[in-house]
Amino acid sequence: MAKDFSAFIEELKDKCDIVETVSKYVTLERKGGKFWGRCPFHNEKTPSFAVNGEAQFYHCFGCGVSGDVIKFVQEMESLDFMDSVRLLCEKSGTKMPDSFAKTDDNDTAELKKTKDRLYSLLKETAKYYYLCLKNNKDALNYLYKRGIDDKYITVFGLGYSDGKVISYLKQKGFTAKELITSGVAVEKNGNLSDTLEKRLIIPIINSMGDVIAFGGRDLEGKSYAKYKNTAETPLFSKSKNIFAINLVKKSRHKGSI
Ligand code: ZN
Repeated sequence: MAKDFSAFIEELKDKCDIVETVSKYVTLERKGGKFWGRCPFHNEKTPSFAVNGEAQFYHCFGCGVSGDVIKFVQEMESLDFMDSVRLLCEKSGTKMPDSFAKTDDNDTAELKKTKDRLYSLLKETAKYYYLCLKNNKDALNYLYKRGIDDKYITVFGLGYSDGKVISYLKQKGFTAKELITSGVAVEKNGNLSDTLEKRLIIPIINSMGDVIAFGGRDLEGKSYAKYKNTAETPLFSKSKNIFAINLVKKSRHKGSI
């Protein structure tokens, strides 16, 4: 029997606790029955963003925004309502009833498989870049000189591309096609070429902690583009991942990478 849509939404909201979800983006502190943090929607130094776990909504006393968990994810990830619902379904392991899941922009089983492969490819790539950085004195010194220490490198998962990531990933069983689709490599004159070779790497991570793309900063000053991102991919849409990009920008400002 087809479930009522609003009943389904209520059920989803029950599963996706707002305090837990907001905590993935904002550091919250418990005070007087509510959770408080610095508002992600306006600039402030003292927390006026309150999350009410009992009533399952947020409200900012500074800029006046409020809403439920779906609205919050919508705003944070620049998604429309249905995409926000889909994301919450995915993260909470909730199956959306087929009657609500529009087929046109919903992932097919095939696309889902492709995406899973890409997630693991990018995870391997991030690990590889990170280890490269740890073994590259020049790149490390570049960061240390800018006040970026080992802790910061670990937290942001910074890395360095030594140009050998392609053979590493092939060894791990990834195909040339997957390397290109992920944005890690491009095809040049029939060969695979490392997109971010000899660059300092800043992983772009979605709200749930998956690496979805990379940003690279030229260290040698030879490249036309000082900063470069990997291309749009099935995982990374520049228009939909504004939050991730903001994070990278913030990290750049903080440490002046
Ligand atoms: Zn606010």
